[in-house]
Amino acid sequence: SQIKDVQFVKSSGRAKDCPRDERPEFAVLGRSNVGKSSLINALVKKKEVALTSKKPGKTQMINHFLVNKSWYIVDLPGYGFAKAPDAARTDWSSFTKGYFLHRETLVAVLLLIDASVPPQKIDLDCASWLERNKIPITFVFTKSDKMKGGKGTRPDENIRNFQQLIRQNYRHHPPWIMTSSVTGLGRDDLLLHMSQLRNY
Ligand code: GDP
Repeated sequence: SQIKDVQFVKSSGRAKDCPRDERPEFAVLGRSNVGKSSLINALVKKKEVALTSKKPGKTQMINHFLVNKSWYIVDLPGYGFAKAPDAARTDWSSFTKGYFLHRETLVAVLLLIDASVPPQKIDLDCASWLERNKIPITFVFTKSDKMKGGKGTRPDENIRNFQQLIRQNYRHHPPWIMTSSVTGLGRDDLLLHMSQLRNY
């Protein structure tokens, strides 16, 4: 399940424009600042990859990276950025939702959740929307190394509270993995998990 080769393929504005070669793919999604670029960097061990997605004009695009010439990691626009103009938020609902609803090669969404903060409504809303639309999710908790802070900021506690809220609303509890891009925790677990999902 190791990554030997990663290539940037293209940035697309809509699901219609995404690659059409039928290879399986995983979409990476989360709130702005959740640690998405750091996680992708840590996964593929190539700084250029996530940097490509951070270039002006690409942050609001669907960015396809081909891994080992056989499957894609798809970097999606972040959501819930406090300072984003309403237009940017509407964008998420129109074209990212279109991507989820029409992308047949999508194996699962890696929904990134910041473990250093208490459960956020916008993340729970996003998870509910995906569940309602029958899109498979894996929760990937980020920043689990962050232990400092006041009440409610301990990662293990935040993760437990988040899971409890999900359990109350989901029929099937999605798989989840705890990660840190600083310590490398969860990297191998996540790669193995993705290879298992691909081989179903
Ligand atoms: P993005 O906006 O989701 O792409 O988030 P970034 O990857 O740019 O990370 C946002 C901030 O969180 C940066 O200051 C990172 O250094 C920090 N960060 C990301 N991942 C981790 C992590 O696993 N542990 C810690 N302690 N900080 C992290």
